[in-house]
Formats: sequence, C-alpha cells, structure tokens
Amino acid sequence: MPKRDYYEVLGVNRDAGDDDVKKAYRKLAMKYHPDRNPDNKETEEKFKEAKEAYEVLSDAKKRDAYDRFGHAGVDSSMGAGGGGFEGFGDAFSDIFGDLFGGGGGRGRSNVYRGADLRYNLEISLEEAARGAEKTIRIPTIEECDTCHGSGAKPGTHATTCPNCGGSGQMRIQQGFFSLQQPCPKCHGSGRIIPDPCRDCGSAGRVKRQKTLEVKIPAGINEGMRLRHAGHGEPGVNGGPPGDLYVEIHIRPHTVFEREHDDLHCEMPISFTTAALGGEIEIPTLDGVARLKIPTETQSGKVFRLRGKGIRNVRTQIRGDLMCHVVVETPVNLTERQRELLNEFDEISLSNGDRHNPKAKSWMDKVKTFFGT
Ligand SMILES: [Zn+2]
Ligand SMILES: [Zn+2]
Repeated sequence: MPKRDYYEVLGVNRDAGDDDVKKAYRKLAMKYHPDRNPDNKETEEKFKEAKEAYEVLSDAKKRDAYDRFGHAGVDSSMGAGGGGFEGFGDAFSDIFGDLFGGGGGRGRSNVYRGADLRYNLEISLEEAARGAEKTIRIPTIEECDTCHGSGAKPGTHATTCPNCGGSGQMRIQQGFFSLQQPCPKCHGSGRIIPDPCRDCGSAGRVKRQKTLEVKIPAGINEGMRLRHAGHGEPGVNGGPPGDLYVEIHIRPHTVFEREHDDLHCEMPISFTTAALGGEIEIPTLDGVARLKIPTETQSGKVFRLRGKGIRNVRTQIRGDLMCHVVVETPVNLTERQRELLNEFDEISLSNGDRHNPKAKSWMDKVKTFFGT
C-alpha cells in the first residue's frame, strides 16, 4: 500500500504552522489511541500513520526534507529502533503525559473512597411521630481477622511481583512506540501472594453482618435519610470508607394518614349524633381525645384538632389532626326503628324544604339542567 501524504494524513495544509500540526495530530491521536480502541487493528494503523506524519512534520529538518523529496527524504523504513524516530517518546509524553498517565505504578497508587450504602428501614407511624431507636443489621466488608488484610496466610508475606518488579505496570513495545499496561500477573497491584489466606482467599477482606444502632428523631417523614458517616463500604488502598444512608419508610396506618406534619382521619358518626350533636371520643397519637360535635353537623365537615399532629423534625412545631366527618346511615334496622323513621320522614315532608335545604337546592339545579 503506497504511503499517504503526511499533510493529508493530518489533514493540514502544506503551509500549516507548528501549532496546527500539533493540534491536528493531537486530535487524531486522541481518536485512535490504542488505550481507547483496544484490539482494533484499523485504528492502531491510523494511530501509527498519524504519529509518523507528526514526527516528520513537527521537526523542521525532517519537514524540509519531506517537502523537497517526499517520503524518500525521510525514509521511514528505519522503523522500530531506527534513528529517524529518536525523540519521539519525548514528544509523545510531552503531549499526552497528562492524559494517558505516562508515569508508572498507577495501579497501586489509586486510593478510592468506599461506596455509600443505603438501607431501607420500615417503621410505624407512631415510631416516626415519637422517635425510636432501632437496631439494624447491615452487610459489611471488613478486614480479614486471620491475615489482617494482607491476604497472605499468617506467617507468609506477599512478595514483589517478579513480572513487573512491583510497579504494577508493563511497558509493551508495539512497533516503534511503547505503551503502559497493567501487569497481567499481579493485575496492577505490584504484589503477588504465593500462599493465600484460607479465610479470605487473598482478598484481605471478608463479608460480615454488623449491627448498628439507629436513632430515629421524632417527626421523621417518609423518604428522609439518616446519614451514618463511615458505615458504608470500606475504602480501597487505605481510602476512607463510604457512608451509610438509612432511608425511612413509614408503614400505612390503620387510622391515620399523614400529610406533612398533619394527620388525617375519618370520623364516622351516627346520623342522630350528626343531627342532635354530642360528644365523641377520637383517637390521637397521645391517646383518646374528646370532641364536641355540634348539632346539625354535615358529612364531610372537618374538625381540626390543633397540635395533635406530628412534631416537625426541624422546627419542633406540631401539626394538627384533621377529623373528617362521615355520617353513617344506620343499617340492620328493626321494625320499630323503621316505624320511627317513617314517622320522622312524614313530619319532615309536611314541613316543606326546611329540614333538607341542600337536597332541595340540588333538586332545583337538576331540574334546570334537564330543562323541566
Ligand atoms: Zn485473610
Ligand atoms: Zn506485576
């Protein structure tokens, strides 16, 4: 295959300045770099081609020779190890040193913070209202007691990887340039464990369950998270551990429904109580409260009991309890009750609309609607 023109390879004009040449090369190298295109012959070839073009065009003497004599002027058949490409390594690390980690030993120097963990904790509404203390069991990865984290059987030690000499990195020669790769024998750690610990299999860590006391503040609400610093997964290579987030979920309550710091409940009352008024007992989180029902109370009326809701977890101000009246129609009537109700109805009807003004006005609207 004939060699392509170097200017064409980099996509620059013949009079392009050094900066443009560098920029063009950088762009191509980023795109075709083997670190970004593992095991891709095509991009590898393109990378080599661009590199070769840059090597020539970035060097005033070589560029001059190339401009005058073409490929023959900068005979690249010298290839790998040839004198023509001296100094390329420098140009390379100069541009990419920061991008591709030109330095050795990156495998072992990486220190990571451990991952955060989330624990879903279900509590009752009462617990959320009053606060609680809970013991939870969480999975954790801890240092192995047997080998104290070394991964080596007690009495033995990890040794320096003979393959990479402990750096964790290997220089691989590919054609006329070299690449850094993690050592395949020690996977970048720089050490090998000839005699692994039996309890952790050389990992140095074991999975455990640990218990943790969780203090739930009064007033906590659905979805709130309690942070337990340092109780997440352990860090890597001495990094700090992550945090544990206990996420609160509140079980549905049989009587109350929560809305922010207010509580709502349905309050069924008999129709005689609704009509005649009375006093009823209603449940609250603090026990039973008594509520006066005024005469002629309608279904749907809401009674607000101030301060009988939930104490706000931040402001400490208590919400209210809202009791929604549901007038219950009597069921399982006896003969006598029927008689009385029939009599009651007759009297009501004989008095016109005055006992059921709402039903009357509703009927009027219906009539207008049907145009009758
Ligand atoms: Zn161990
Ligand atoms: Zn190694």
